[in-house]
Amino acid sequence: MAAALPLSATPLSDDFSDLNELAAFASPQVELCREYRFEAAHRLPKVPPGHRCARLHGHSYKLEICISGATDAESGWLLDFYDLDRAVQPIVDALDHQMLNDLEGLENPTCERLCGWIWRRLAPELAQLDSITVWETVDSRCTYRGPGRVRAAREAAHGR
Ligand SMILES: [Zn+2]
Repeated sequence: MAAALPLSATPLSDDFSDLNELAAFASPQVELCREYRFEAAHRLPKVPPGHRCARLHGHSYKLEICISGATDAESGWLLDFYDLDRAVQPIVDALDHQMLNDLEGLENPTCERLCGWIWRRLAPELAQLDSITVWETVDSRCTYRGPGRVRAAREAAHGR
């Protein structure tokens, strides 16, 4: 349980002694996310014989796009959600009610491959792109943070 603030607590706006701290609150680094949905069919051609995912079936996919960066000091936005829609919706439309295996680059349309496919199309349109998460079912999802982030995490883990 969160502790109650004392009634005499000084309001935050009167409590800045450090200009850098003030600037950080004016343009905070934020993560902005928006969800999209699409329906699609697929089959997985590389699973072992008899695997149920080899059979043609469909999913109600959920897609979450997250961008990150500094809030613009004037507008108070990182990005207008409508601008996010303008970049993402054409990709959602290309996937919706499709047989994913028929799309170029999605011959093996696993959740992981789908994340990469979407990333390659979205990254050039969206400089602040941070992560892509695809839910194949309500309890199964994959998150991809881009090739640079994976490499950076690996190098950090190996102390380079
Ligand atoms: Zn499936």
